[in-house]
Amino acid sequence: MPLYKDNSIKIYNSLSGEKEVFTPISEGYVGMYVCGPTVYSNVHLGNVRTFMSFDIIFRYLKHLGYKVRYVRNITDAGHLENDADVGEDRIAKKARLEEIEPMEVVQRYTVDFHNILNKFNFLPPSIEPTATGHIIEQIVIIKNILEKGLAYEINGSVYFDVLKYNETKPYGILSKRNVEDLLHNSRELDGQSDKKNPQDFALWKKAEPQHIMRWPSPWSDGFPGWHLECTAMSTKYLGEHFDIHGGGMDLKFPHHECEIAQAEASNDQAPVNYWMHANMLIMNGKKMAKSTGNFILPTEIFSGDNEHISKAFSPSVARFFMLQAHYRSILDFTNNGLLASEKGFFRLMDAINAIDDLVPATTSTFNIEEWQQKCYDAMNDDFNSPILIANLFEAAKFINQIKEGTATITQDDLTLLKNTMHNFAFDVLGLVNVTKTENGTEKLSGAVELLIQIRQEARENKDFSMSDKIRDELAAAGIQLNDGKEGTTFTTS
Ligand SMILES: [Zn+2]
Repeated sequence: MPLYKDNSIKIYNSLSGEKEVFTPISEGYVGMYVCGPTVYSNVHLGNVRTFMSFDIIFRYLKHLGYKVRYVRNITDAGHLENDADVGEDRIAKKARLEEIEPMEVVQRYTVDFHNILNKFNFLPPSIEPTATGHIIEQIVIIKNILEKGLAYEINGSVYFDVLKYNETKPYGILSKRNVEDLLHNSRELDGQSDKKNPQDFALWKKAEPQHIMRWPSPWSDGFPGWHLECTAMSTKYLGEHFDIHGGGMDLKFPHHECEIAQAEASNDQAPVNYWMHANMLIMNGKKMAKSTGNFILPTEIFSGDNEHISKAFSPSVARFFMLQAHYRSILDFTNNGLLASEKGFFRLMDAINAIDDLVPATTSTFNIEEWQQKCYDAMNDDFNSPILIANLFEAAKFINQIKEGTATITQDDLTLLKNTMHNFAFDVLGLVNVTKTENGTEKLSGAVELLIQIRQEARENKDFSMSDKIRDELAAAGIQLNDGKEGTTFTTS
């Protein structure tokens, strides 16, 4: 019997503002769409955090036995610099600045995105469609909305008529805004748009003569609106009505609000049952921004090459750190937080590695079944990874007590403990046991220790070129040496 039969999940639905019992549209199947990156620059750590939240949701649903179709798109056209449908296309701008083809920009940053996510041990989504691969589907939806009288064409561009839509269906239900407020608060950028009303949004934009990324349509040679891409791709692969739609908090308005309106207008039904939004990541208590220097790239965490951190951290440690905050809480990225997570991570891995050496007894002094239930309860309660991790630490403490002889465990419980620890730490949280992997890291550890010793001797002999060479060559092989008060340790990435 699949585990989901015994595990009722509660999801915080941004649409209702409440935790709701999750009931999939078809029993045993889940359709989940998450807005992917606009691939015009290196992936931001805040985006990594958002996608990691949905990675563990995907992993947990799979763990429970659901058949999950997880669609996460790549936005490779149509995302303008400004939400008011003005400004340059982000990818076209980068292409102009770097004097390369827009598709070279797309390729470069899609590869970067995948590399970073692989390092963090993400599972790939079931389908990763691109916006440019679905222009025809987008044109079909625009025609549909035009036929219903909920969009209009002006000078080769097509806009969604928010006021007309709002006459029969409320616009703003997700972000809890109403059209009157929007009218008061929006300011038209002079002469840059030919929309009837400022809150209308583009479904199709006529391309300026210099715009390279353009496709033929009944209205003009142009490109689709950003919001429309997600509606086209989610409808194509998950249907007009599907279970979960996720993304970062910043996408709630206008992006997701527009998705709801477009889908309702085109298909006459609400597209999504559960809207989920991951909260922001900040650094040292402040918004992360390149312009202020309060900024770090994911790769700089692995290399230690950033002034805000004192050393390199392995991707698993960084992943563990991020999962110690619930996806709906703001996560503050700090050096101290990472250092504390590193200690915790290795304590947890050491405990998991010690399970195989535990000697069973005739009685257990710890109720493993009850503990296992607490792990499931945590994840069933809106995917509460920090509570789950607290429970894993509780088990680590118990494992250490058995080692010390102050607690006992039966063989059956030992098996259950081991399986549960492995399921949650590796399958659900997606951690990698960097201290002990099947490809012989233990042997590697001996070799690295030897190199650390040789490097120490070289330093004592003031042979710094040798000591630097050892450090750099190991770093190139993915092994970071960390010099601390109590000697040198290493992490692998
Ligand atoms: Zn989207």
